[in-house]
Amino acid sequence: MEMIEEAYKSLYPEKDFNFETRIKYSGHFRGYNANASLRSNKLNFHLSKQWREVSRDIKIGLIQELLCKLLKNKTKTYHMDLYHNFLKNVHIAVPKTKVDETLLQHFILINEKYFAGFLEQPNLRWGSHSISKLGSYDYGSDTITMSKALQHDPELLQYVLYHEMLHKKHKFSHTGGRTHSHTPVFKADEEKFENAAECEKRLRYLPRKPRTGFMKIFNFG
Ligand SMILES: [Zn+2]
Repeated sequence: MEMIEEAYKSLYPEKDFNFETRIKYSGHFRGYNANASLRSNKLNFHLSKQWREVSRDIKIGLIQELLCKLLKNKTKTYHMDLYHNFLKNVHIAVPKTKVDETLLQHFILINEKYFAGFLEQPNLRWGSHSISKLGSYDYGSDTITMSKALQHDPELLQYVLYHEMLHKKHKFSHTGGRTHSHTPVFKADEEKFENAAECEKRLRYLPRKPRTGFMKIFNFG
């Protein structure tokens, strides 16, 4: 049976499968990202090219995960468990080739201070000057990306970097078909940062470009 059909049938054993399907591997995604779309009966999957090398069982889990998102289904399957486990562990095999020297020094300091030096070093890179996205952690490529907007503010840089490092530490918990990254445990850890409350306040009032006033809403991935 074709992969997508098999994934669908195990989610909806009673339903007929009458979709036109397509899987496209592309170099546009980083890491192990993927997405899916459904228009009339056309079911298209777009996977990063890294997925080519991944086993069929894990790919079925990915397809089911995407199908559940599309069709608002909260089912969990054995294949989806395999997929989540794969994502949680894939960072081990990812090559650490993109490491910015400045970010590495900050990483080492924070790692010593808050993680007893135990957090394994991810890729560390600068992103754009974005104020709306100050930092992010991508599980698939094991990469922390920091906004250049924080380049000249070591304290805020370290606070946001610490947040992203916590994402690497905690990974994610998966319950009822939803992914929770900012769990209560995560938030309790976040508050352990020296001056956390003060940094939080300052983040809310990061200046945007001149004449556009102040940004009061912020987020980091
Ligand atoms: Zn976050």
